[in-house]
Amino acid sequence: MRALKLGLVECERCCHIAESSPCSICRDESRDQSVICVVEAPLDVVAIERTGAYQGLYHVLHGAISPVEGILPQDLRIAQLIARLDREPIREVILATNPNLEGETTATYIVRQIGHRPVRVTRLARGLPMGGDLEYADEMTLVRALEGRSEVQ
Ligand SMILES: [Zn+2]
Repeated sequence: MRALKLGLVECERCCHIAESSPCSICRDESRDQSVICVVEAPLDVVAIERTGAYQGLYHVLHGAISPVEGILPQDLRIAQLIARLDREPIREVILATNPNLEGETTATYIVRQIGHRPVRVTRLARGLPMGGDLEYADEMTLVRALEGRSEVQ
């Protein structure tokens, strides 16, 4: 994995790659414990954190569904995300997978898995460069995408 340094571990709660588990974001009780931003990669967390515009929690999937590359839902941390919804007082899930085919496929799959759980599901606003990775989006674009997110169910 890119940027995975020695001594880093996967957070048992959000699956972020960090120096400790639970990671510093999960341990920070001042953050909004009712919102989860779902991203594909640890570097997406870094990109969103850099904006300073998001105060909730994260869930890192470690990839996106890609039948062509043989990446299936069970290869990702989707089951862990659904388990969190049943365990934690989550009111909103923000789907921040990349704006490409794999990211959209993954978002659609997650919406289906969430099913009728009483949680608001939102998707980042369009405006992120199509086909691009979240981690390469500039801060203003990310902030606008977060603020302009819309409900998918
Ligand atoms: Zn964590």
